[in-house]
Amino acid sequence: GLTVDGARRFVELAAEAMEAHREYLTELDSAIGDADHGINMSRGFKKALEKVSGGSYQDIGGVFKDVAMALMGSVGGASGPLYGTLFMKMSMKLAGKREATLAELSEAMAEGVRGIVALGKAEKGEKTMLDALYPALEALSSGSDEASALEGAVSAAEEGMKSTIPMLAKKGRASYLGERSVGHQDPGATSAYLLLSCLKEAVV
Ligand code: ADP
Ligand code: MG
Ligand code: MG
Repeated sequence: GLTVDGARRFVELAAEAMEAHREYLTELDSAIGDADHGINMSRGFKKALEKVSGGSYQDIGGVFKDVAMALMGSVGGASGPLYGTLFMKMSMKLAGKREATLAELSEAMAEGVRGIVALGKAEKGEKTMLDALYPALEALSSGSDEASALEGAVSAAEEGMKSTIPMLAKKGRASYLGERSVGHQDPGATSAYLLLSCLKEAVV
């Protein structure tokens, strides 16, 4: 499951991953957006890590709430409020919990994804972060044990990320390109895959 320390570890790993993939995410966004996704994500998680490493937490909800606040407060792009909502909804589900089972974590993530949909109104197949998150969520709730469910979720997110390449963007900046958005991997689906890999590492 995920512990409070695991949640803190997740934030460290996410900050590292977003920094390490800053150029890559920005390059993906330069093809179909405004070339700032890597900058947005590395800035957001740097702020999140600053906040979380300076705080002391009784529950997982508290950690994720601070992540949400940091993302909402420091990321100018669409991804800030969208990922901010994901972590805020997750924090509400995980409030008061010192440890979450994988089932509880996946329920919290489902709530978070519903929050992204409520805010961004995107559907499956519209070339967004949801195309990585939905398959991951499905895999998460269908594994036989925790390790294989997480393994499956990361693979499903990776597949979902790649599945955005032939998609026509219907939401966000990439949608302004119309047909020219086809043939490029979605930056947000890519960061979602990276975040899931970090989550997998943080779960014990
Ligand atoms: P911006 O497009 O404002 O510069 P980012 O570049 O940080 O913001 O994030 C772009 C990513 O946000 C896209 O690749 C896509 O995955 C995601 N995105 C954009 N609009 C939506 C939406 N309505 N619903 C879900 N995800 C979205
Ligand atoms: Mg952008
Ligand atoms: Mg932008």
